[in-house]
Amino acid sequence: MRFKKTIAAVGFLAAAALTLTGCNSGAPTDGGDTAGGTDSAEVAEGVVLEGSPTFDKMVAADKVVIGVKEDQPGLGYLDNVTGERSGFDVDIARWIAGSLGFDESKIEYKPIASANREQAIVNGDVDYYVGTYSINDKRKQDIDFAGPYFVTGQGLLVKSGGTDYQSLEELDGKTVCSATGSTPIQNIKENFPGIKTQEFDLYSACVENLVNGQVDAVTTDQAILIGYAAQDPENLMVTSGPLLTEELYGVGLPKGDDVLRAHINDLFTDGGDTWQEIFDANLGDSGIKVEQPAVDAY
Ligand code: GLU
Repeated sequence: MRFKKTIAAVGFLAAAALTLTGCNSGAPTDGGDTAGGTDSAEVAEGVVLEGSPTFDKMVAADKVVIGVKEDQPGLGYLDNVTGERSGFDVDIARWIAGSLGFDESKIEYKPIASANREQAIVNGDVDYYVGTYSINDKRKQDIDFAGPYFVTGQGLLVKSGGTDYQSLEELDGKTVCSATGSTPIQNIKENFPGIKTQEFDLYSACVENLVNGQVDAVTTDQAILIGYAAQDPENLMVTSGPLLTEELYGVGLPKGDDVLRAHINDLFTDGGDTWQEIFDANLGDSGIKVEQPAVDAY
């Protein structure tokens, strides 16, 4: 399909953003091949990252393994019919891969749920992880983060029509769903003891349960919730209540790979318009207003 081929052909997402828009408008100009780009891949060439064991591993394997989400529309999503992966996080992941010399045909995506991210990175199951992954000190004990590259905060998703809930405070005695191992589930358990919780590995399972009336609300990052509401506005709505937290998204990396971390931080810092183009292509119509946050090169 055209997007992936174009990524491979141009390497960087300046053009990819435009192509995505073309994709969304349903006007692909080639045969719709989804097998990944094999055209003249003009990704970065001759990349040297002296002292990065993760990069050495990628080079030896001739591929990059990226941990992602695939049930979060607008952020990290796999279309099971076309095989196309899309979303802001996925394009950030592709941007990084291109900067390391890997085109789309050399990317292996691995879906990893929130609860399993640190372990997947520690085990070396993925080279890096890009998927609504909040930077925090607890996680930093096991892994490192490049970034931040995005900022959002904890919000609330409810059924549209017929519910008056606007905030977690109003949900005492009710059941709120979130993902196991996520910052929002931890926040409700610690700070809203009157709320009953329901957990699943995936937010999409929470959303299904909300639509079916099994839970009263879903809570997680507002950017994630907006993606679900946009997919099913008949049934779902994001409340207008204030965001409860600030969630800064980072790229999860093996702990101690400071060379790779610096490379990605430099990419974010010196990336010109690319971040904005990725944002516009994926979230430009979402109503989300975010500027690229400054990198925290700790
Ligand atoms: N950003 C939050 C976290 O990292 C919630 C989203 C997620 O589970 O990926 O836990």
